[in-house]
Amino acid sequence: MKINNKIYIEKLHKNIGQFFNIDYIIYKKKTKFQNILIFYNSLLGKILSLNNIIQSTEYDEFIYHEMITLIPIYSHPNPKKILIIGGGDCGCIREIIKFKNIKSITLVEIDKEVLKCSKKYLFKHHKNSFKDKRVKIIINDGYSFLKKNKKKFDILIIDGTDPVGYGKNLYSKKFYKKCKNSLNSNGILITQSGTYMLQIKEAINHYLNIKKIFKYSGFYQASIPTYYGGNMLFIWSSNKINLYNTNEHILNKKIDNLDFKYYNFLIHKSSFILPQYFIKKLNYINNGEKNCKK
Ligand code: SAM
Repeated sequence: MKINNKIYIEKLHKNIGQFFNIDYIIYKKKTKFQNILIFYNSLLGKILSLNNIIQSTEYDEFIYHEMITLIPIYSHPNPKKILIIGGGDCGCIREIIKFKNIKSITLVEIDKEVLKCSKKYLFKHHKNSFKDKRVKIIINDGYSFLKKNKKKFDILIIDGTDPVGYGKNLYSKKFYKKCKNSLNSNGILITQSGTYMLQIKEAINHYLNIKKIFKYSGFYQASIPTYYGGNMLFIWSSNKINLYNTNEHILNKKIDNLDFKYYNFLIHKSSFILPQYFIKKLNYINNGEKNCKK
């Protein structure tokens, strides 16, 4: 990423990238874990960047935060305890507290500085949701937390950065095994897994690791404009619930008249429909079990 005083360039790939005008910088700090930058862009609003990668923008963060939380919440029969690993901008918490039947929300974030600057500058992301009495925030590496954790959760959301640096800890087979041990028998695990064009290999290799540990697993997707490279992929998994089969009439009934901006019953169902080239890759893997070759 090159920052002069006007342009932020994100290069997720050596051949392509995207740029954002910087109207002004709001916060910038190099922490023990990463370079944090929050800046303002007149089209996208406030933007959070970590280690030169866009994490979320006020313009479209609602798509990501609704899709990573509402798909598991509406797929689970009766979610009570939710664990979020990462998620320092608190967008996930904002969505989850809308559900009164959820009793506890635990967030494990490695970098307290991300929480601090998000609380101060990203109100539209969090809307003070971290103040809800059901929320407990723990500053720790997600993997270290799971190694010692004895509690069981109904839904585990991995809202981490891309698999670089400390983010890498959240994508290994050992980590997914720890996730499984921290879930109730009908628990659901969700992880963000990059975009089709730039991170399909990564996504499939994460899927390979996860499918060896959970009985059911698969992908769903959402179009998030500022995540460069096509639709964003999410990997779901569970030992009891096959999210592909979420029953239409139950789903239709369960969707309260809560204020969502992106999510609805048809979005839920259609997000599991994948393009043919991707289905072919997955079929090849499910039959051939080979690592994904581009
Ligand atoms: N929506 C973004 C995306 O899809 O890339 C993720 C945003 S969220 C801010 C990512 C958070 O994960 C950051 O706050 C980062 O500090 C945190 N994180 C990265 N590695 C972690 C780890 N090993 N344990 C806990 N949190 C971690």
